[in-house]
Amino acid sequence: MGNVARMEKSSETVCKIVCQYSRGRISAKDMEKLQEIAEDYRKVKNYVYDRFGGIGSLSKLYPGYTVQNEMTQSGLRGELKLPSVYFYLAVFEAIADIKSQWTRTKSKVLSLLAKNENLEPEEKHYLRYLLKVNNAFAAVLEEEPVELKSELQAKYDEVSKYVDAEKMHRYLCRQVRRYHTKLHSDRAEGFASSGKAYRYGDHGIYLASKERHKRIFVELTDGNQYGSQIYIKLYPKEGKLHIHVPVNRAARSHSDYVNQIGLAAGVYTMLTTDTGQRYGERLGEYQKEYAGWIKRQTASYNRNCKDNPGRKKYEAKKRRYTEQIHSYINCELNRLLRTEKPRTIYTVKLPKAQAAGGNRRVNGFLSMWQRGYIRKRLAQKCKEQSVELVEVFGKGISKECSECGREGNRKNGMFICSFCGYEADEKENTARNTLKRGLAGQTIH
Ligand SMILES: [Zn+2]
Repeated sequence: MGNVARMEKSSETVCKIVCQYSRGRISAKDMEKLQEIAEDYRKVKNYVYDRFGGIGSLSKLYPGYTVQNEMTQSGLRGELKLPSVYFYLAVFEAIADIKSQWTRTKSKVLSLLAKNENLEPEEKHYLRYLLKVNNAFAAVLEEEPVELKSELQAKYDEVSKYVDAEKMHRYLCRQVRRYHTKLHSDRAEGFASSGKAYRYGDHGIYLASKERHKRIFVELTDGNQYGSQIYIKLYPKEGKLHIHVPVNRAARSHSDYVNQIGLAAGVYTMLTTDTGQRYGERLGEYQKEYAGWIKRQTASYNRNCKDNPGRKKYEAKKRRYTEQIHSYINCELNRLLRTEKPRTIYTVKLPKAQAAGGNRRVNGFLSMWQRGYIRKRLAQKCKEQSVELVEVFGKGISKECSECGREGNRKNGMFICSFCGYEADEKENTARNTLKRGLAGQTIH
């Protein structure tokens, strides 16, 4: 990468969720008022899910102001006496949820389509087109003729020429009806708020309530002030709340981060570099302890499954275990970046978690391994520090000798090549191959 690209990179911003916490216990009276807002917020969302989440409303979702206007006219806001800020934020949140629900439905139909052996290639091609072009998709589901902008229309006429369109539309509608479920929110966990409805001050935050001109004051543990849209999450039993604030931060860039490194991930040691440095060596230990505890809990749960008063305690302990492992992972990832000072990190694209079957104990252990979490955190930290993270193809990577390229043997965590005599830690060998493949451009884009 040239210098120009490097400089552009350093001006990138990274979105991060910052958390703020209430100090002390929120009075029961104030908590009740906050819960009332959360409850109304939930009602508004469910109303939107119910009215606009179905097949017939697809075309109203883009652009969103149709929904917004209809919600204004619905009279629901007046009925609930909810401040308009909360009302519209609930509407927008519900619309966003519905849109992601549609994305999920479409990808489900798309994956079934790929496996369907009864469809001709032209038919699959046509159906994929419908799933891709929103207006065409909406028209088909609403049983309207497909009418598109001129350039899209030409393409549509082209792909529809070779198929029985009616038959395809019936197939698509059937699939969508089968997999598209309406959303519903059962729990009122909190609500979003924006600059008009809150004000920081006096070591806390003033939140708009349902009573006119009366704000609820909540003391906070820090003095930070933000101006963006925030999310208030309530914990009524504990008498506390958390505030989630999305913050855009300029990515930091380090002039001394110049190294190219290869990494190999493992179950026992989180990450090993191409020079044999290890990060997260205690991950396996933590995981094993956690797995053992879960196993004992499950056994005792099965014995006393009739009623279980300890369930809450169990959840709390489980959360503590996860938090402990996550904080360990984050510390070790930070240490890796600080120590290795990488400009580029190459990793193997991790395979998806294996399907059930095989050795159950090992599967249980592996599923506990925080694969997805480590990958997500590494990606986020690389973004924050302007480190390039590149995935390489992983096929056969652990069997290959990083010295001569031939196939070697692995035993007790060691890699031994009988051709050239190379011997190293198995993970170190993999990390060396990863770096080699990365530098050779065998990367995934
Ligand atoms: Zn060799």
